[in-house]
Amino acid sequence: MKKIILTGDRPTGRLHIGHYVGSLRRRVELQNSGEYDEIYVFIADAQALTDNIDNPEKVRQNVIEVALDYLAAGLDPEKTTIFIQSQIPELCELSFYYMDLVTVSRLQRNPTVKTEIKMRGFNESIPVGFFTYPISQAADITAFKANIVPVGEDQEPMLEQAREIVRKFNSVYGPVLVEPEILLPENSACLRLPGTDGKAKMSKSLGNCIYLSDPSDVVWAKVKGMYTDPGHLQVSDPGKVEGNTVFTYLDAFCRPEHFGRFADCFVGKKQSFTFNSLDELKDQYRAGGLGDMMVKKFLYEVLEDTLAPMRARRAMFEQDIPAVYEMLRKGCERARAKASKTLAEVRNAMKINYFDDAELISQQSEMFKNK
Ligand code: ATP
Ligand code: MG
Repeated sequence: MKKIILTGDRPTGRLHIGHYVGSLRRRVELQNSGEYDEIYVFIADAQALTDNIDNPEKVRQNVIEVALDYLAAGLDPEKTTIFIQSQIPELCELSFYYMDLVTVSRLQRNPTVKTEIKMRGFNESIPVGFFTYPISQAADITAFKANIVPVGEDQEPMLEQAREIVRKFNSVYGPVLVEPEILLPENSACLRLPGTDGKAKMSKSLGNCIYLSDPSDVVWAKVKGMYTDPGHLQVSDPGKVEGNTVFTYLDAFCRPEHFGRFADCFVGKKQSFTFNSLDELKDQYRAGGLGDMMVKKFLYEVLEDTLAPMRARRAMFEQDIPAVYEMLRKGCERARAKASKTLAEVRNAMKINYFDDAELISQQSEMFKNK
C-alpha cells in the first residue's frame, strides 16, 4: 500500500512553537526521509471560517502567513503538495455524503469539540458547520487516501471519527476509503505544548503563543514573562520542574549539544554552573540555588537556535509573495486532481454515477421495453 501523509492547520493566526513541535517539525522530517509516496499539507480556511464567520478578512490574511511559516520551517513544494482547503470543492461533496454516516449524539461526544465549544463561549448557538467539522476533517483525510496523519494529541478524537466513517462507508458501499492512523509526537512534552501562561494548550485563540515568526526581542520578552514554579520565590528555594512551562519547553526543544554551545548562560556574578544534560539542569533546579532568569536565558538561546534560521528563510520568501501564491495555486491543482479521483470512486460506490453507467441505462431500457 502507498504511504500517504496528510495534515493541515487553520489560518487563524501565524504558526507557533506548539504547532512546530506538535506536527510541523515531524512533517519536515517525514518529507525529507524520502519514504513517503505522497505528502499533502493544507491550509484549512473553510474550517477556520466555521468559527470566524464574521471575520473573513482574518482568515484571508492568515493564509499567506501560514504558507510562509510552512516554507520557513522547511516544507518543500517540490516534495509536498501544499494547498488551500476551500479551493477543493470535492471536499464539500464528500462531507455531505459522510454526514449520513454519523449521528448527532456521536458528534456531541467528541471531547475536543466539547472543549473548543466551551473555549469559544458558543453555549447554545454553535454553528452547525463548527459542530460538524470532524466530518469535514474526515473528508480532508480520505479524499487523499491518507493513511498517516501527523498531528498533536488534540486531534486524536478527529482521527477516531474519521476511522469510524471509513469503516461505515466501506461496509455499506464497498472498500473504497482508507483508514488513517494518527502519528503523535514521540516526545510527550510535544503532545500538547502549554502556553506561555502555563495554560494547558498553546493556542492561537488563547493569545499565549510564541510565534515562529516573532522577532528575537519579542521571543525574549515572552520567555522572560513566562510562568515557572510559583513556589520558587527565592533563588535558594527548591524548585519544581513538573508543570513548570520553562522546563516543558526545554523538554521539547533542548538537545545535549546546547549545553556546550550556550554554557555562558549559566555563568553569573554570584554563581556559576556547568551542566552537560537537561537532567543535570533539572536536578540543580530541584535542589535550589538556580535562578529562573538563568534557565530562561538558556531557553531563549535554545529556542533561537531553531527560530533564527526560520526567521531568515521567512524573510526571503516574504520578498516574493506572488511566487508563494503561484506555489499554492499549483498545489491546489495537484490536490484537486487527486480528490476528484477519489470522489468519482465514492460516487460509483454510492450508485450516484448515472451518466457514467452504461449498464444501468441499457438494463433499464430493457426493463421498460419488456414491461
Ligand atoms: P485554533 O485555536 O484556531 O484552533 P490552534 O493553535 O489550535 O488554533 P490548529 O490549526 O487547530 O491550531 O492546529 C494545527 C496543528 O497543530 C494540529 O495538528 C494540532 O494538533 C497541532 N497543535 C496545535 N496546538 C498545539 C500545541 N499546543 N501542542 C502541540 N500540538 C499543537
Ligand atoms: Mg485547534
